[in-house]
This record gives sequence, C-alpha cells and structure tokens, in this order.
Amino acid sequence: MSSCVQNKEDEKEPVSVFSDPIDAKVAKLLTAMTIEEKIGQMTQITITALEEEGNPGVLDSIKLKEAIQKYKIGSILNVPNPGAPTPKRWNEILMRILDETNKTDKKIPIVYGIDAIHGASYTNGAVLFPQQIGLAATWDPELVEKCAVVSAYETRASSIPWVFSPDLDLPRSPVWSRMWESFGEDTYLSSQMGVAMVKGFQGEDIGSYNKVATCIKHFIGYGSTTTGKDRTPSLIPERILRQYDLPIFKKSIDAGAKSVMISSGEINGVPVHASKKMITTILKNELGFKGVVITDWDDIVFLHTRHKVASSMREAVKKAVLAGIDMSMVPYNYAFAEELLSLVNDGEVPMSRINDAVGRILRMKYELDLFRTAVTDPVDYPDFGSDSSIALSYIAASESITLLKNNEDILPLEKGKKILITGPTANSMKYLNGGWSYTWQGDQSDLYANDKLTILEAFKEKIGDKNVLYTPGVSISKEINIAKAVSLARQASYIILCLGEHNYTETPGDINDLTITKPQIKLALALAKLNKPVILVLNEGRPRIISEFEDKMDAVVQCYLSGNEGGRALVDIVYGTINPSGKLPYNYPRYVNSLEKYNRKSTENLGDDEQNDISGYQKSYFPQYEFGYGLSYTTFSYKNLILDKVFIERGHTINITVEVQNTGTRKGKEVVQLYLSDMYSSITPEVKRLQGFKKIELQPGEMKKVSFEIDIDDLKFVDEHNKWIAEFGEFEVNIGGLTKKFELEKVM
Ligand code: BGC
Repeated sequence: MSSCVQNKEDEKEPVSVFSDPIDAKVAKLLTAMTIEEKIGQMTQITITALEEEGNPGVLDSIKLKEAIQKYKIGSILNVPNPGAPTPKRWNEILMRILDETNKTDKKIPIVYGIDAIHGASYTNGAVLFPQQIGLAATWDPELVEKCAVVSAYETRASSIPWVFSPDLDLPRSPVWSRMWESFGEDTYLSSQMGVAMVKGFQGEDIGSYNKVATCIKHFIGYGSTTTGKDRTPSLIPERILRQYDLPIFKKSIDAGAKSVMISSGEINGVPVHASKKMITTILKNELGFKGVVITDWDDIVFLHTRHKVASSMREAVKKAVLAGIDMSMVPYNYAFAEELLSLVNDGEVPMSRINDAVGRILRMKYELDLFRTAVTDPVDYPDFGSDSSIALSYIAASESITLLKNNEDILPLEKGKKILITGPTANSMKYLNGGWSYTWQGDQSDLYANDKLTILEAFKEKIGDKNVLYTPGVSISKEINIAKAVSLARQASYIILCLGEHNYTETPGDINDLTITKPQIKLALALAKLNKPVILVLNEGRPRIISEFEDKMDAVVQCYLSGNEGGRALVDIVYGTINPSGKLPYNYPRYVNSLEKYNRKSTENLGDDEQNDISGYQKSYFPQYEFGYGLSYTTFSYKNLILDKVFIERGHTINITVEVQNTGTRKGKEVVQLYLSDMYSSITPEVKRLQGFKKIELQPGEMKKVSFEIDIDDLKFVDEHNKWIAEFGEFEVNIGGLTKKFELEKVM
C-alpha cells in the first residue's frame, strides 16, 4: 500500500470540539493515525482453521500476521471450521490476535464479531435458546431480554465483544428462508422484541465485560424479496418502508444499538449497499444513528459481480463508502482496502468520510473498553452453561411453543399409555435448533452435549422407554418405511407425528413450494387413517402448509425452532406439566397463493367467507391459523372493555381497560392483545393492527384488569407524501373480540 497524499480540502477540515471523554480519545487517536491505519480499521476479514486440522477455529498464523501487520485490519469475524470452539479455545484465539496487534505501532485492538443468534451459537457448550421466531411467540419481552443477557454473558465468556444480532427483518412472505431469524410479520411485536434483545445484550454499559455490542440487521427491506428467496430484489414503496420496516430499526437505535448491518438485497433496483439515501440520509441523518455501519458478507464485491451497478471493484468500493458504509465485511482479501486507499489518494473519497467511519469504529472499541481489556478470561465466567441459564432456555421454549389445535381436549395426554413417535424431526437436535447452531447451517449433530434431548429422548425420559415406540417413517425428502410406522401405530394409544424442515439458513434454505414436503404428507395421511389420535408436532422455521391433512390431526403443536431444551418443553406441554401460552407471530397460511398478513387491507379479501360456493368468490383470507392465535389448557373470558374517553386530542391519552378472567380449572397465561382499526383514512386503512399486548398469568377463577394507554402517535400512519400523520375520525379498539369506538378530534 502506498502512503497517502491528502488533498487540500481535507487539510482545511476543522477539528471538531468534543464534549465527552470518548470523543476526545477518538479525536486524538484519529489525528495520530495514518491513512493505511484508518482504512485497516474499516476492514473486517475472516480467518479460519487451516493450520491444525480438527482444532476448531484455529487461526492461520501467516494470514493473521499479514492482516494485522501489513493491512492493519480493525476487525475479524470468524466462521470456525470445523465446529465450535470452547470458551477456553476462543480465549486462546483472541489472545493470539491480541499478541499480534500488540506488535503494531498504535496497538489498536481488533473488534471480533460473531453471529450469536440464539445464544453464543458458535461456542461449544453454550446455551441455545429458541430461535427469534420462537422468542417472538412468547410475547414476553422481559423474558426475551433475559435470554439476551445470558447470550451476552456467554459470548463475552468466549472473549467476543460484538454480536451480529438481533435480526430486525420483517418478512413479507413466509417463504423467505430467514423468516425464523426474525420476530415474525408484525412491526409492533418485532419492535418490542428487538428493543428487549438490544437491552439484554448491551445493558447499561457495553464495557462491563458481560455485555456485548449489538449489530441490528439487515438494514433495510431485506425480508421483502419479491420471490421469497434470499438476497433477491425487493420492490418497496417508500411509504411502506417507512410505515412497516423503519420503525423496528428506529426503536432499537433509540435503545442504543451500537452497529447496523446492511441488507444484501436491493430495493427498487438500488442495492442497499450502494444507497446513500438509505444509509446516510435515512439511517445516519434521519434516524440519528451514530454507531458503526457494516456491510454484510462480501457485499461490496457483489455490487460489481452480482448486482452489476459497478463496473469494477474500485467503483463498487467508492459507491459503498460514499453511500455511508463504515466497515466492510470483506471477508477474504484486501481489494477493498487497496481500492479505498487509492480512491482517497486520488481525492475521489474525501478524508472526512474516512474519519467519520473510523471515528465510529474507534468509539465502539472504546465503549467496549477493548483498549484496556481486549480479551476476557473464561475463568471469570463461572456461570457459562449454568443450570439457571439452561432453565431459562427451557422456560423460553415452554412459553413459545404454541398449541394450534386441540380437538376434544385430547391434550394433555394421559400418562402410562403407549405412544408412537414418528416423523423425520423426532430424533434430531439439528432440526430442533435449525441454523446458526454451533455451525452456520447448524448441521453437526455431534456438537450437541449428550444431556441435550431430542423429542424422542425427552418422551422416553418422561414416560419411560417401554412406553415409547419409534420409527421415523420418512425423512424430510424421502420415504423410508411408512408401513412400519403404520404397523407400530397399531400398538400405540397415541401417535406423536413430528414433521418440519431441515436445518438451514440463508440461501441454502430457499424453497419453491411452501407446502410441507410430500413424504411427510404421505406419512400423515397414512397415520390419519388408523382412527387413533394423532398429535402433529411442527419443528419448522416458517409455516409450511399442512392443509392437505390438518383436518385429520387431533392436535397441532407448533414448536418453531425451540432450542436445546425444546424437546423437554414440548413433552411437558404434551403431558400438561406446562400449560401452553405461545401465540403465533405470523399468519399460518392455508394456501400457497394466499399469504396475506393479518393486518391486510379489507380489499385483499372481497369474497364473502360464508358464500364460498358461489363461483368467483373464494375464501381469499382464510389462514390456517391467524397471527396472535394460540390455545391454552384453560379458558379465558374478556369483559368490560372500557375507554376513559370517546374523544382524543393532541397531547392527551385514552386509558383502556379490560377485564380478563380465567374461566377454566387450571392456572394459565394469556396474551392480552390490543388491536386498533382506523375506520376511514386517506390511505386505505389496515383491517386492524397490533398496538399493544401484555402477557398475564391467572389462577383458576382469577380476574385481572389489564390497562393500556393510547396516544396520537399510536393512531398515525404514513401518508402519500411519506409523512407520519394522524387523521381525525373514528377508530376502533379490539381486545379479545370486544370492541369500542373512539374519535380523534381534528389535528393538524
Ligand atoms: C449473513 C449475516 C451474517 C453474516 C456474518 C451473512 O451471510 O447474511 O446475517 O451476520 O453472514 O456471518
């Protein structure tokens, strides 16, 4: 790399006056740094096992030396290969990196980033929680925050201070292979959950060695692909982007998220990595984001090779950096650093842009206190993998698992009766956890500790081996021996049919058909003929269509990807130790071509549902199960929905109360959901939208008064000029099927 010749304009730039101590430190260091050092800070690479085969995460020393000594890189992300290192091994890796940075002139610590997705998911022995889609189904932000506290602790125990989590994407279609990494289809629910995770990960002070910096991702519109396939183009009107996608990020930014990862997709023909409007105008200026903006994997290269908006790597780098990228997840070579240096030297990228980027990166490093303690020691983390953290994962799984059907109260099952467990997901930790589980695709079963139980093992633990018959019947994609499953089913009182999906993430999870795979349908239909109760258990990252046989199932239990304790939690729900309380964070579709969201427009279903036979009218909105739905072993009744005003005006709130009573015979939890409908507005209103929820517990017979507060902001939508406005007129509150109207008095 040649040295830099600063252009005149840059020399004239005034040095800012800083008010807080970190800003002053950053400014001082920036002044001392060479251009090569600055560009190095903007470079993130990956170095994986090459040297010592079989030692997870071992670094290639030659590459490490080159990266740090020659290119002065600022960050490393690791895809440990093979498998997941223990905290001790991670500590050795990070110490090795520290040794290398200590040999440099400025000794600027590397910030190591990792995909800690549902726990410290690249660390051997870490507690794996339900994936985000399951966490969303708990409808309990406090619980989700606690899970993130443990994930942060276990990530720091692995010496890693930075996580590429949470995922704040809003999937427009359940086909999308990253649906399970999201909090589901709703903006409000996703916003609440995102904030909970940011708080749990970061706490009050990310420099406190048991907290980590978050990276909220993937900004923006990543979940809206038209094809439903990963990293394919999206068409999103700005109005829609502002109303549904941006608020989720805004809430987490306001909660202090330290970094943002950019979406690999393109919106309306502009790749987000090349969009100054998205990154600088909206994210940095409008949302006021002061942290680090990082690319996704190799995405600057892809501006040239995939999206073809840049005819060379040089042009790609220029576009991305001028758009506002602060750090490039390179990850394999130094073309980014070399091109950027040349662009700065040629005056095509101003130093002010570089200083802005590097200032943000250094700030995060100071906030993480990496200059003092770049590497933590696992001995200081005695609670890594502790029983209480495992218990928390169990609670999260139990609160997420969603009972979708329970004909004639078949569940909870009677103990002491023989059961058949069958289906491809019944005896697999991989399918219980999905992707990002000790490996990227979550594909190595041998990485799970022996005490982690599959569904089959958890049933055996609960009711004894002799009461459990097992045969898989089919794999996800092939028939194995359905006849054997049928013959064993004849000996059993109940059939537990475990269906679902392979483990996957990102593009390898793309599908052409949302319907659950054919061999699984065949197994379900064969078992349904036997006249024995069939309990369908779903282990899936997205709602695979089951309408061909759902009506023949006696019960349906959605597990999502419920983590390491999911097997035990499921069994405790099936036998009634736990009363289910999960609620769907998405509409479960019935038909491949009817993927409407719950908050659709009324014009999306013009057919009369009761008149389904009349030709030309189909049940166009007829999900298998609706967003927010989930059964319990007890019953709840709602009464006395009261609004303290029938008019609301600027600066005022409406207090809403409702009485919820447990009318059944056992203790249970209910998610009280508040929906609002704008009766008439200048933009066609949604049928309803979620605007509040509370999860409460009630003893049999107990009644609680639940209250909510609504203000004008809750009534706003984005108008045709892309501005948030509230329009006067009538609104309806809907809680538990009770409705009340109120009016917004004229506002400007
Ligand atoms: C994914 C990101 C992830 C990154 C680093 C990318 O392929 O899209 O979500 O954080 O890899 O592993």
